[in-house]
Parts: sequence; C-alpha cells; structure tokens
Amino acid sequence: MAADASVTLDKLLELQDRDIAIDRLRHRWDSLPERAALDTVRTELEAVEKQLADTVERCDEAVREERRFDDEAGSLESKAAEVERRMYSGEVSSPRELQLLQADVDQLRRHRRGLEDRELDVMERRESLDVEVARFDTRAGELRAEASQLASTVSAAEAEIDEEVAGERAARAELAAILDPTLLDDYERRRERARGFGAARLVGTTCQGCHLSIPSVEAERIRTSPPGTVAHCDNCGCILVP
Ligand SMILES: [Zn+2]
Repeated sequence: MAADASVTLDKLLELQDRDIAIDRLRHRWDSLPERAALDTVRTELEAVEKQLADTVERCDEAVREERRFDDEAGSLESKAAEVERRMYSGEVSSPRELQLLQADVDQLRRHRRGLEDRELDVMERRESLDVEVARFDTRAGELRAEASQLASTVSAAEAEIDEEVAGERAARAELAAILDPTLLDDYERRRERARGFGAARLVGTTCQGCHLSIPSVEAERIRTSPPGTVAHCDNCGCILVP
C-alpha cells in the first residue's frame, strides 16, 4: 500500500502535466491570431456594408429626382406643343393673341430647359454615386471572401485544438481514475488557488512549483517520510512530491 502511494504522487505530477497542457491548449484556442483578424475584417465589412446601403439609398433618391425632373420637363413640353398646335390650327387669328401664345410657348420651353439642366446635374451626381456603389460593393465582396477564408482557418484550428484537448482529457481521466479522490480534491483546490500548480517536485530544497526553497530540515523530513505521505510547500501551498 505504501509503495503504491509513492507511485500515486508521481501519477499526480503526470496528471498535472495533462492539466497544464490543457490550459495551454485552451489559451491557444482563445488567442488564435486568425480569430482576431476575422473580427477586424468583420468590423470593416460591417462599416463598408453600411456605407454601401447609405450610398445605394442616396443613389435611389437621385434616380427618383431625375425621373421627377424628366416627367416635369416632359409635361411642360406637351403643354408647349399643345399651345403650338392651337397656334397653327387656324382657330386663333388675332395677332395679339398669337403673340401671347408664342410668349407662353417660350416661357414653357425656358422652364423646361431649366428643369433639364437640373436633371443633368442630378444625373452627374447619380453617376458619381454609381461609381461609389460599385467601389463599396467590390470592397464588401473582397472582405466577405476574406472573412469566409479566415472563418474556415479558425474552424480548422479550433477543431485541431479540440482534438488535442480531447486526447489530453482522456489521458487525464485515466490518471484520475487511479488516484485517491481525497488527494485529487486537495490537488485541484490547491491548483485553483495557485492558478497553475497544485503539485510540484521537490528538488533538493527547492519547490519546482514556486522555485523557492524550504528549510533543509523540512526537505529532509519529507524525503524520509513513509512513501505517499502528503506534504505541502509553505511558500506556494502545492503538494510536494519528493
Ligand atoms: Zn512552492
């Protein structure tokens, strides 16, 4: 029984190696550089998509404005043509009246040309908005491709780490099954408190957990205790394994 107990303490150190490996893998999982890059790309994509939506909206507004000017110009031209039709229909013979009708036609056409000029301005504005829409659209497409590439890299890296963690966990479970539950509880509590080490090898008078020395009398006492006697480091509190 006593011999088994000293083997047990070595197994506890092996189990701790698994725990440390699992911690490292978790840390690697949490700090995958591709995930940070993916977040950056997604943030930029969101901003570009918003700019794209805003620009499309402004472009649509310009199209509506263009159409409105075009409709108004068209209706002014119809009116002018209608007045001209009357002028040349022979219905009106008074020179004074014909002069007034001509003035109407001129005024309607002036107004129409004014609207057409404004329509041209809007068209120019809309054309430069079209260029911007195309630019944001292209950029959004690039970012989407980049995000999808990064997302699959992240997934692959995560899956790889998950698999390693599963392997470490299985190995840990095998070790945990042969360890005394009280010792394991004690180790887990101490490891949680020390944030990393629950057990450490005693080399000479140095605890390999905190790398501080314990009194040599104490080190000697631990080394000459019956195998499996559980002792703790006064400095970091971890279980000392001679
Ligand atoms: Zn220590």
